[in-house]
Amino acid sequence: MIEPGKTIGILGGGQLGRMLALAAASMGYRVHVLAPEDELPAGDVAAAVTRAGYGDLAALDRFAATVDVVTFEFENIDTAAIRHLARQVRVHPGADSLEVAQDRLAEKRFVEALGGRPADYRAVDSRADLDVAIAEIGLPAVLKTRRMGYDGKGQARILAPGDADAAWAAMRGQPAILEAWVTFSHEFSVVLARGADGEVVVWDVPHNSHVAGILDTSTVPAPPEVIAQAPAATALARLVADALDHVGVLTLEFFATAEGPRFNEMAPRVHNSAHWTIEGARASQFENHIRAVCGLPLGSTELTAWSVTMKNLLGDDVHDWATLLADRRAHLHLYGKSEVKPGRKMGHVTWL
Ligand code: AMP
Repeated sequence: MIEPGKTIGILGGGQLGRMLALAAASMGYRVHVLAPEDELPAGDVAAAVTRAGYGDLAALDRFAATVDVVTFEFENIDTAAIRHLARQVRVHPGADSLEVAQDRLAEKRFVEALGGRPADYRAVDSRADLDVAIAEIGLPAVLKTRRMGYDGKGQARILAPGDADAAWAAMRGQPAILEAWVTFSHEFSVVLARGADGEVVVWDVPHNSHVAGILDTSTVPAPPEVIAQAPAATALARLVADALDHVGVLTLEFFATAEGPRFNEMAPRVHNSAHWTIEGARASQFENHIRAVCGLPLGSTELTAWSVTMKNLLGDDVHDWATLLADRRAHLHLYGKSEVKPGRKMGHVTWL
């Protein structure tokens, strides 16, 4: 058990790290953030900051010497660096979780082997592969880079064969995956926390609405169509967590379809679709992640309200902060980012 007063290392310095650091601080831990960017939303609320690249082994060695456990808020870190760190200090979740979740092909195969059903897909490593994949899967479809994609980045829709050249060009030569376009009624996610002893707690499944590939709102309770599919999706998420011996929060995203839940993707970390848990559940995803990586018992995921809605503040939405503060039911969270860019996650607001 890593007791309060010890230091938690967080790889990554964005808003997820910021909210993890706040939860850690309220439980009496110190946080040391390592990330390469100049502006670090997590660094602003941490006891210590190291500005270094995730592949800088000398910096990682110095970092490891100052922390009692390492976690991450971001999955696109070379697993060789994670394994290097893990030889010196406890790292949760482990490199296996990261390795599967950072590659869309690996995660689909992994989930399928456990009985999950992703959209029909094919690996695409060349322009010729793309033609074969289109012939086999049909259109419409979506081409995605296997690695480093998020919030709809690294994705190109293919509606007609004539779109294939542009879609392949958008991958910039990176290995990709073609996915059949799924007809769904809703999107939802399963967010769970798994402790070092294998105990698993699951929050209520939120209904997630995306706009232009970016999460817009998460709402609990989800509509009946989602509630009906939640048990099967949750059972799959538990199998995935156990199979990876995952410690910490794990998120699986799904499409609710006429044939049941279709797996979309997973994240081996706290997730935007569970920000509502800060006020909407007894223990938030951030608190339970800290509890899990420190080997503490997990907190209750019970709801604190009849219904909860979380809305992201993207780009210029952040300028509405004064209006939102005037709404006495709104809980406003701003991430302290100075540069406003279209689609950039600047904050979120939660209504109970
Ligand atoms: P992703 O980054 O893969 O989660 O994609 C972002 C969003 O794009 C998803 O949440 C969906 O709204 C949409 N999307 C991605 N892939 C598909 C698909 N195969 N079929 C339908 N919608 C998709």
